[in-house]
Amino acid sequence: MDLSDSVEVLKGVGPKTAVILNKYGIRTVRDLLYTLPRDYENYEAPTSIAEMRPGKVVIKGKIDSLSSRRAKKRNLSITEGVIRDTTGAVKVVWFNQSYRVRQFSPEKEYYFTGNYEFKNGRYSLISPSAAEVSGVDPISGLSPIYVAHGGLKSNDFKRIISKSRDIFISIPDLLPSVRHGTRAKALFYAHFPNSEKSIGGARNYLAYEELFELILASQLNRRENDKLQAEPIAFRVNKIRELVESLPFKLTMAQRRAAWDIFQDMGKATPMNRLLQGDVGSGKTIVAGMSAYEAFLGGVQVAILAPTAILASQHYEGLKAILEPLGVKIALLTGATKKKPELKKQIREGVINLVIGTHALLTDDTDFMKLGLVIIDEQHRFGVEQRQKLMLKSPAGLAPHLLAMTATPIPRSLQLTVFGDLDVSILDELPAGRQPITTAIITEVETKEKLYPHMEKILQSAPDQKKHGIKAHGQQIYWICKAIDDVDGKTAGDSSDKLDITSVKKRCRRLREVFPNARVEFLHGKLKPSEKDVVMEQFAAGEIDILVSTTVVEVGVDVPNATLMVIENAESYGLAQLHQLRGRVGRGASAAYCYLLTSGDMRPSRRLTELVKSNDGFHLAEVDLKLRGPGEIYGALQHGALDLRIASLSDTKLISRARKDVGIFLQNPENMVKYRELMGGIAKYQQITTLN
Ligand code: ADP
Ligand code: MG
Repeated sequence: MDLSDSVEVLKGVGPKTAVILNKYGIRTVRDLLYTLPRDYENYEAPTSIAEMRPGKVVIKGKIDSLSSRRAKKRNLSITEGVIRDTTGAVKVVWFNQSYRVRQFSPEKEYYFTGNYEFKNGRYSLISPSAAEVSGVDPISGLSPIYVAHGGLKSNDFKRIISKSRDIFISIPDLLPSVRHGTRAKALFYAHFPNSEKSIGGARNYLAYEELFELILASQLNRRENDKLQAEPIAFRVNKIRELVESLPFKLTMAQRRAAWDIFQDMGKATPMNRLLQGDVGSGKTIVAGMSAYEAFLGGVQVAILAPTAILASQHYEGLKAILEPLGVKIALLTGATKKKPELKKQIREGVINLVIGTHALLTDDTDFMKLGLVIIDEQHRFGVEQRQKLMLKSPAGLAPHLLAMTATPIPRSLQLTVFGDLDVSILDELPAGRQPITTAIITEVETKEKLYPHMEKILQSAPDQKKHGIKAHGQQIYWICKAIDDVDGKTAGDSSDKLDITSVKKRCRRLREVFPNARVEFLHGKLKPSEKDVVMEQFAAGEIDILVSTTVVEVGVDVPNATLMVIENAESYGLAQLHQLRGRVGRGASAAYCYLLTSGDMRPSRRLTELVKSNDGFHLAEVDLKLRGPGEIYGALQHGALDLRIASLSDTKLISRARKDVGIFLQNPENMVKYRELMGGIAKYQQITTLN
């Protein structure tokens, strides 16, 4: 038997079962063997029924008179029966598990474990888990519990896998150089443990295997990238110096270092594949601008991809001011762009040197004459296919240099695994003069005495930057809401001060009442792109004092005169997102504030208290990894692609061992041919470990 054979070759799998398994992606023998138990039940040392005491018990016996009925009141099915051993009998009850009626045969002996308690006037065993005695290891009493897949319950998996017990012995190893044990043993003990220790050993082995695959995939991506050809772009030091000197500020050391890394990469004939990580406000845009200028000087076109129209137009305005005087022809291409065919023609003919755009850039009819550099802002907002689309727009035989930017820092453990040997530059320094953002948790009842007065003060403060002086009356405020529309049916004029009002529109009305002299507007994702742009432009120009918005302002938008943010229903956001949102303020020289508004019903979560304590995105990313696990943090993984079965991305010891072994593995090119199963299996990981 081969591991890649269809599950149907297994004794316990008939056509019906196969259909269900296939539906859940379990197609091959390998898939089934890697469907590992979610946990184990321990049926060690059963007591006799006569000696049972209330509480958790393990008993061993036969079951009869099993029947199922519907409870009258609630929509509940009740399955009842009697368990007997040589010392006595006990009533057993399951709720909403009517399949139990078919699970047992009256001649066979089973273990049961559950709570023995007083319910509905008598003692019974409540919803115990059950396992056939013959299928449980006699010494350890351990029995696996599988996740139910549709109609297939844990016990069905147990039955199927037990029938295949004899195939484990011939399972070949997936990897070379594993120091302890074999895959055959690891998989066997995962399904048929004979001690707690054997489970630990099995999980450790399989976790290692998984990390090895992930790291190998990531490193192979790098090798593949290194085989590609790109247009080398020479570093024109004097021209770049001119640009830097024309800027209204001095670059930070971190910006200089990042730009230097990028210029080195772009000088090579293999494509750059670099990730620029910088906390919100660290100044990634100008680094992108310098790279774009360098590419322009080298005679190639540049595309900058941004996740939203607002952000694209902000980049466009910002970079136009800097680069157009130097002769760069810049265009903006978003869904709202007029005369698209004409613009696309200019891009195709190479008249446009730098195009900044949204998804609109990715359409098939956007062609470049000589695309040499692709910059992706907030790269985790884009899927692999989207990024690839742009990369394919370069001339035949040449790959563009790629600079990906993100403000969502990748925790180091992820960097070592998922993004293996990616080139990374980090902006770990904020521009001079920035004030840290003071963050505080505030409850509903405190709004009137604490929050509103502070907001009033902000509205009265002198504008942060001179250029806003004309239109901005004072400093500006973001108020972030969860919902767009009224949710609870209350109408305008509702003067209750309770903050159960979470919609953008309602909050906007409310704030207009509280601050009659302020110009309050709202923004949300359902507005037309052109409407959104108008509101955002007005806010940026200081024509709006308080902007009530959903999280559409989360990404990248830069209004230095906005110095206070309120995040309503703060508990409903993730840590990374809260940090991103908060980064919309504190972008100028004035002190900035972020209020996390909560109902006050519960103690604030760890997420919020961590946010109050730290302004450091890298630190917060580590915390987030610990609190939530990796899948939810990093955008590229948002589709659940990185569902590691068992490996933990915070197991740094195992990670570094796997990394070392992958290094050794890659030294021998023959391995790539020899380990076919391994090489075939890592394609799925390569999809998510690639930048381009
Ligand atoms: P982010 O990294 O979040 O994309 P931006 O590139 O939008 O940050 O920069 C945030 C703000 O800081 C912008 O207003 C930008 O002009 C300004 N800025 C960037 N670099 C510097 C610097 N070295 N000194 C002062 N201000 C800077
Ligand atoms: Mg940015």
